[in-house]
Amino acid sequence: MSVIEHIESPLLDELCTRLRELASELDRPGDDGLFPWPERQLALCGEYGVFRWFIEKDHGGLGWSDEDLVRGYLALSASCLTTTFIITQRTGACRRIINSESDFVIGNLLPDLISGSAFSTLGISHLTTSHRHLAKPVLTAEASDAGFVLNGFSPWVTGGDQADTIVVGATMSDGRQVLTICPTSIQGVIAERPADLVALSSSHTGRVIFEDVEVDRKWLLGGPAENVMATGVGAKTGGLQTSTLAVGLASGAIEFLEAESAKRDDLVLAMEALKQEYAELRDQLIQAAAGEIECSNEQVRTSANSLVLRATQASLAAAKGAGFVTGHPAGRWCREALFFMVWSCPQPVMNAHLCQLAGIAE
Ligand SMILES: Cc1cc2nc3c(=O)[nH]c(=O)nc-3n(C[C@H](O)[C@H](O)[C@H](O)COP(=O)(O)OP(=O)(O)OC[C@H]3O[C@@H](n4cnc5c(N)ncnc54)[C@H](O)[C@@H]3O)c2cc1C
Repeated sequence: MSVIEHIESPLLDELCTRLRELASELDRPGDDGLFPWPERQLALCGEYGVFRWFIEKDHGGLGWSDEDLVRGYLALSASCLTTTFIITQRTGACRRIINSESDFVIGNLLPDLISGSAFSTLGISHLTTSHRHLAKPVLTAEASDAGFVLNGFSPWVTGGDQADTIVVGATMSDGRQVLTICPTSIQGVIAERPADLVALSSSHTGRVIFEDVEVDRKWLLGGPAENVMATGVGAKTGGLQTSTLAVGLASGAIEFLEAESAKRDDLVLAMEALKQEYAELRDQLIQAAAGEIECSNEQVRTSANSLVLRATQASLAAAKGAGFVTGHPAGRWCREALFFMVWSCPQPVMNAHLCQLAGIAE
């Protein structure tokens, strides 16, 4: 198998076809009630070199431009949202590792992450968007001779039960925060059984508990600092990537509508309007990634969320009762679209949604 070196590679279509074929399997739980981890899908992505797209050439990656990364994410998320979402969390961990500029961490972890033989993920939402209204931090760090002792939990960790390492944030008693690698082999790291979700259950997202987990200082990525996620190592959360995945999922649903409308004239008008809206948003995302236009992440996110909810429901309406039967992709797309209402959803986007849902102007 060959590596997808650039965005025009015909191999990208080949990979996406395989991911699309495998996608519905992820929506069926096994005998133990657990949804399958997309091992085959992630292995394929590793073999096709997808993990290298996001890494600079001097670190052994392919160093794709931001606009090509948008195009790549659009193609992947139109084929299998679960696999693509896991890749975003994995890439988020890689970015923090690189941004740390720690030779020890980079040298020990990056090569296996690039090849796909190791998996790392993020446990940072409790520093940004989750459990923020509580008086006490849910995960604390205390300085020790060797490094830091973690106690508490990280509420949402995608692939927490599959990870070799987790990039985790924790708060110290003086309010400063640390961002550190936590190898999951350390005693006291307990990944709870993944949550049963409305969609994307195969992402094996769940709570990871830390019971007196002593992490050596050599794994520290950033901090202690006031707001470690705002420092260089924290890198941006949310951003255009979330919108890109929403728009990619929408395009998968619109493609289905297009195929159906080839035999059903009554679908053409809606399909063409959605297709036009998709093309405009896609171009906006690519131009924004290329730095050619200025647009607020929140404005794009609101438009992307609106499109994905409408496009997926249009695909269900077109699929009729058959689409409502478990196993049909249209029903799954509708559930997956709901994810964008909660994933790293900034307050202004949530406000815009609530106003739309309530039928009032913001
Ligand atoms: C499928 C999935 C995968 C994810 N993967 C990851 C991951 O890999 N890594 C990661 O770091 N994050 C991840 N996240 C977290 C995500 O980015 C958000 O942080 C998360 O969805 C925020 O939701 P929350 O329920 O934790 O929010 P919270 O704000 O904690 O809300 C939880 C509940 O608290 C109550 N509440 C909220 N605000 C208030 C208030 N002001 N006053 C009183 N009560 C309030 C409400 O009842 C609410 O239902 C994931 C989320 C999902 C759904």
